[in-house]
Amino acid sequence: MEIFQDSFSVSSNRRCQMVDITAEVQSVIQKSGIRNGEATVYTPHTTAAITINENADPDVMHDILLTLEETFPKNRSGYKHNEGNSDSHVKSSLVGCSEHVLISGTRLSLGTWQGIFFCEFDGPRSRKVFVQVRGQ
Ligand code: ZN
Repeated sequence: MEIFQDSFSVSSNRRCQMVDITAEVQSVIQKSGIRNGEATVYTPHTTAAITINENADPDVMHDILLTLEETFPKNRSGYKHNEGNSDSHVKSSLVGCSEHVLISGTRLSLGTWQGIFFCEFDGPRSRKVFVQVRGQ
């Protein structure tokens, strides 16, 4: 089994934003030369996340963010963390900071409507994403 790791940066221009990183992840797999195996997509931040969902209709990402905003409002009373971004930390933990995807014949085994998204919950800013590819 071979292991290959690379990283790239993702920039956002809003506080909360979903950025489609499917092409960037696929290009790491191409670079790895690994044909079959799996990839872990991981972001080392406490107010960001990685998720897989629909990339055909951008309204889906809008509606996911709307739901998170309404469920976890920024100015909820009772928060103690003095940075003022407790909602961002909660969203990061619930969505999760990594995803696994299978690789078949050098391609991500995603469904027709699936894409990999970097989720910014405390932007705008630039963030790091790591991709580790394992297989042969
Ligand atoms: Zn904080």
